[in-house]
Amino acid sequence: MQDELLYAVRQQSISELSASIAHEVRNPLTVVKGFLQLMKEDDTQSKQEYYQLILSELNRAENIIHEYLTLSKPQLGESMTVPMKECLIHTITLLTPYAFKEGVLLKELQTKEQEAFVYTDRSKLKQAIINFLKNAIEASAPSGEVEVTMNIKKQFVEVEICDTGKGMSKEELAKIGTVYYSTKEKGTGLGTMVSIRLIEEMGGSISYASEVNKGTTVQILLPLKKDHE
Ligand code: ADP
Ligand code: MG
Repeated sequence: MQDELLYAVRQQSISELSASIAHEVRNPLTVVKGFLQLMKEDDTQSKQEYYQLILSELNRAENIIHEYLTLSKPQLGESMTVPMKECLIHTITLLTPYAFKEGVLLKELQTKEQEAFVYTDRSKLKQAIINFLKNAIEASAPSGEVEVTMNIKKQFVEVEICDTGKGMSKEELAKIGTVYYSTKEKGTGLGTMVSIRLIEEMGGSISYASEVNKGTTVQILLPLKKDHE
């Protein structure tokens, strides 16, 4: 009975998940189709604009699929020794063009530590940090700043992602990380949920401090690599 029940629940969530993937991916694809149709009929310079829109909508479809895939498979892959400082510097470099495009200053990593090692799935860790960084950039107004700091705290490495963006009220903070919660026109409301899950799976934890119109700090604590790892 228990098994049957579990099976039913699982079946239901799989069909719900597929329904929402289909729904969310259909929107950008419909937009792309529309613009391709226009381009077929139009030979003028507005094509450049159409290309831009098509590319950004295809990117969006790709992001949605990517986030759903992680959602359906949030468990970690193979662990390895990850130099956290190096990993953060790399991730900041990856997002610098995006911040630049949004007019936000993404600062260099701030740390006094030489290096800090964690033993985990490197690509999932990078993915979680990218999600938090993207949110920090997206919450910022042009000329806002995003700063990442790294400190060793006992058996943990503490990473803080601090933005001077729009911040969140208590009510909004309570909703963050719940499925589909997004205040963005084109958000999926999945990034934070997936990232929190991944960090917790790594034995870490996340906490938010935020003030409306002042900004947000996301604190990530991850256990340092143990001797036997
Ligand atoms: P998405 O980015 O697709 O909206 P997320 O799960 O990444 O989905 O984030 C959910 C919501 O949480 C965002 O839409 C935003 O309202 C809020 N949020 C997340 N990070 C921040 C931040 N650094 N500052 C302000 N709001 C944030
Ligand atoms: Mg996000």
